[in-house]
Amino acid sequence: MKKTGLKLVVAALAVSFGTFGYAADHKLSTDLVVVGAGSAGLSAAVQGAELGKKVILLEKNPYVGGNSQHAEGLFAVDSEWNRLRADPLTRQEAYEAFIEKQNHLVDPYKTKDFVEGSGENIKWLSSHGIEFEVIRETPLKDNTWHVIKNFKGTNHGAGLIKGLKEAADKLGVETKLSTPAVELITKDGKVIGVKAKDNKGDTYTINSNAVILASGSFGDDPKKVEEWGHRDPKAWKSSVPINKTGDGIVMATKIGAERGPVSFIGHLGTEGKGIKFLSNLYAVSWQPGNLWVNNLGLRFTDESTCNAFSEAANGIYAQPDHEGWAIFDEKDIDYYMEKGVDSGIGVLVPIGTKLTNLKNDIKEALAADSDGFKAADNVAALAKAINVPVANLENTVKEYNRVVEAQHDPMFLKDRRYLRPLEGKLYALRLKSFFFSAYGGLVTNREHQVLNAKHQPIPGLYAAGLEVSNMVGPTYPDFFSGQAFGFAAYSGRHAAKNAVATMK
Ligand SMILES: Cc1cc2nc3c(=O)[nH]c(=O)nc-3n(C[C@H](O)[C@H](O)[C@H](O)COP(=O)(O)OP(=O)(O)OC[C@H]3O[C@@H](n4cnc5c(N)ncnc54)[C@H](O)[C@@H]3O)c2cc1C
Repeated sequence: MKKTGLKLVVAALAVSFGTFGYAADHKLSTDLVVVGAGSAGLSAAVQGAELGKKVILLEKNPYVGGNSQHAEGLFAVDSEWNRLRADPLTRQEAYEAFIEKQNHLVDPYKTKDFVEGSGENIKWLSSHGIEFEVIRETPLKDNTWHVIKNFKGTNHGAGLIKGLKEAADKLGVETKLSTPAVELITKDGKVIGVKAKDNKGDTYTINSNAVILASGSFGDDPKKVEEWGHRDPKAWKSSVPINKTGDGIVMATKIGAERGPVSFIGHLGTEGKGIKFLSNLYAVSWQPGNLWVNNLGLRFTDESTCNAFSEAANGIYAQPDHEGWAIFDEKDIDYYMEKGVDSGIGVLVPIGTKLTNLKNDIKEALAADSDGFKAADNVAALAKAINVPVANLENTVKEYNRVVEAQHDPMFLKDRRYLRPLEGKLYALRLKSFFFSAYGGLVTNREHQVLNAKHQPIPGLYAAGLEVSNMVGPTYPDFFSGQAFGFAAYSGRHAAKNAVATMK
């Protein structure tokens, strides 16, 4: 054999056997395959195993938990936790609000089932050792947010993931990490399994009675954010990217599933050199006491819209260059350090938190010559530093101070408790739009079966969690906290129940 021919054979062998050994093709058989080990996938896996079925759980990342491990609390009404509150919301009130406040753009059946079953679902989660604390996220919201207890810090959801993973292990669920599902296997229009490939190059052909997709939507793929979500991915960014690229949606649409409307769990925030996510300076971007202006130097909203983080993200995104500036002064810095924040970032930075490190954060950002944070001795100098028209910003600050003095905001009707004058040395923090997760992609029916383009269920295929469409309108419903996390855990579990019910 000639030298080049030999090289080709060696290369071909290296490809098919892997550089460090054989890449095996494993043939497996199970009752249920669950794709994705976030809250939806783990709930599905545990429920399937509790009903006596053999379950294989595939996870793309080398760890379980997805975005769910960073989430804080789940929406529920009529749980034994929120029933104890003085003013519990009824199921009917919650259902009506979800439907009406989202302009009837959501699936009424799945919404009804979710609201009705949300309290019982919390009870089921608690049977796996997960404990809850009902918290009113802001004074404007109801007591529906079931935050996972005993996991303080920034990863409450990790408590839920830990409880469900331990249950899954005990029940014999076979979890395969770093093993993304890559293709659905079909026969005569029915899904009969899935193919997966691990990080060593081994492939898996898994035959199963049903597949539940719970891969958490597409938010970490900028191209899909643009094409499916119609947002500029440079200005509408995933705040906690974990490699979620809509795999379940892609696999299902390849076999004829209908692609449904998509939405995002948007939130406001800031970014720039020397500014850390969730630092004290970051938390200032969420405060209603600041003045917000756009890149024309014009005020554009009631700044207390920051209490509804998803709506605030829209307001900022709608501005020129999709951004704005939060302006505050030395007195505001003292206020945040001594009195604390008026608007929390969920329970990550709860309302009333004193930003005791704020002056240090400010020093660091200025020392880094941050592109996201500027200071100046007067309005004109600040306008130049943030590159907005000087005359516009001067007029805006003058008008704002007049509003403060009158304690009446005729244009935006900002609550007077947040109206404070701007004087002396001023600071500007860049405002940007982000999202915690994309939401939507596949259309499912009441049984959580994935529907095809003719609105008929694809036998053997289910979807749960954030890759399901029609559970939120164009803007995430942050009038109640925890809709996404609550629905993920609820829908995963109920998809499994329904899938198992079809098995002999
Ligand atoms: C910081 C933060 C805070 C949040 N707080 C809240 C909150 O308090 N309340 C709330 O309602 N929502 C909150 N959210 C949103 C939260 O992410 C969702 O509510 C919920 O976790 C979604 O669950 P899921 O199971 O659908 O997705 P995920 O938890 O993201 O799980 C999807 C899993 O699928 C895996 N996967 C992807 N592709 C494949 C593949 N091809 N094969 C196998 N596995 C795959 C992913 O790696 C991931 O592990 C928050 C999000 C963030 C980032």
